[in-house]
Amino acid sequence: MKCPCCNQEMEAGYLQTGTRIAWTRELHKFSLLPRKGEVILENNVFKGVDFHAQICKHCKKVVLDYSDKNYEEG
Ligand SMILES: [Zn+2]
Repeated sequence: MKCPCCNQEMEAGYLQTGTRIAWTRELHKFSLLPRKGEVILENNVFKGVDFHAQICKHCKKVVLDYSDKNYEEG
């Protein structure tokens, strides 16, 4: 998909969370060191979930897909 902010093509993958957040191309256990092409962020928000996620490395945006998660709408 195209990035909604800069219109560049985004990369599909996953946003996985633990004590840190990692955007990964494939779902896998991640360590503190990113594999090639991955992005790891500090995590103060999420705990132990993973999302399908598109990343734009050009303007540093991630779009999460939570359609496969249980959720509540207010
Ligand atoms: Zn972008």
